[in-house]
Amino acid sequence: MKSYQDPGIVKKLGKKITDLASQIGGKKVKICHVCGTHEYTISHWGIRSLLPSNVEVIAGPGCPVCVCPNSDIEQAIWLAKNGYTLATFGDMSRVPSNQGSLLTARAEGAAIQIVYSFLDVIRLAKKNPSTQYVFFSIGFETTAPMVAIELINNRIPSNVSILSSHRLVPPAMKLLLEQPDIQVDGFIAPGHVSAITGYGLYEPISQEHQIPIVVVGFEPADVMFGVLEVLQQLIHNQPRTENLYTRVVSHKGNLKALEAINTAYSVVDSQWRGIGMVPKSGLELAETYAEYNIRLKEEIPVSGGSDIPKGCRCADVILGKIYPRDCGLFNKKCTPENPVGPCMVGNEGTCSIHAKYGGYFSIDEDIESED
Ligand code: SF4
Repeated sequence: MKSYQDPGIVKKLGKKITDLASQIGGKKVKICHVCGTHEYTISHWGIRSLLPSNVEVIAGPGCPVCVCPNSDIEQAIWLAKNGYTLATFGDMSRVPSNQGSLLTARAEGAAIQIVYSFLDVIRLAKKNPSTQYVFFSIGFETTAPMVAIELINNRIPSNVSILSSHRLVPPAMKLLLEQPDIQVDGFIAPGHVSAITGYGLYEPISQEHQIPIVVVGFEPADVMFGVLEVLQQLIHNQPRTENLYTRVVSHKGNLKALEAINTAYSVVDSQWRGIGMVPKSGLELAETYAEYNIRLKEEIPVSGGSDIPKGCRCADVILGKIYPRDCGLFNKKCTPENPVGPCMVGNEGTCSIHAKYGGYFSIDEDIESED
């Protein structure tokens, strides 16, 4: 048993959090995380059942396939039906759009290849030089370097293009703080994104919004330490950025990866599913690499329809306004096997995680919600 998973340590941290929370009177504290893996840790290990009733941890926009807009998926489907082989990750292939998912498109004959990494695409393209491949490149700061490094080192074959749908985490955090109807008293920041960006990136946000931002890892004790740190900062009125994931994250981050991102991409305003346009929140290929940008090679039509399916409340789930169980379709019409909305897909979607592991405040409450 790893010490970060030790139930005794985690329970002791729960007791400390409860003691601290009693010092803030009746005030409800809402701590937001922005990472599907953190939601997995919290739900899988029953973290919410260890927290006092006035401390809530909510899930923000931390699932890359969930925030990928309908328009980008429609573009991917169009390409796969019009002469290209569209390569992407398994989770992405199941996300619904107004034109169905990539998997349903494949069932209708579209050329879609599931890959584990961009390197798979390069290997396939070298093996099949007469096939035109498009890599649907999604994810946050963690996955963006993958394509960037290959571009910079000139290792991408001429029969590979990129459909970039990368998003950046800090602009989404800022957006949450600027929403008048969303209460966020502190952030738990994602350890893996921070390993690339460095925790220094959050310091201006902490200062401007006077809010605690605590970088933590993905074990249950990591998350509990993060909650404890946010509460301590609130009680002492000393909001700042703090790095508790020192075994992985540094102040400046991974300088090679950051340099690759800054060289290969331009930061652009981007659409987030359920949120809308977020300024300077996405990555598009830089002009230097225009020859690989499929959006510059093809005029790709999109329907322009609604981003969220009828009845689906993913927009509210992504913004941490509701829990999945508050959606009328949750675990009824919408299940991990048959997802209606993007949040029910994959290992990082909040609805999918809650459908598999619960994720609420106590066992009693979970049973009640199923009645
Ligand atoms: S349960 Fe399904 S329909 Fe409801 S918000 Fe989640 S993904 Fe959307």
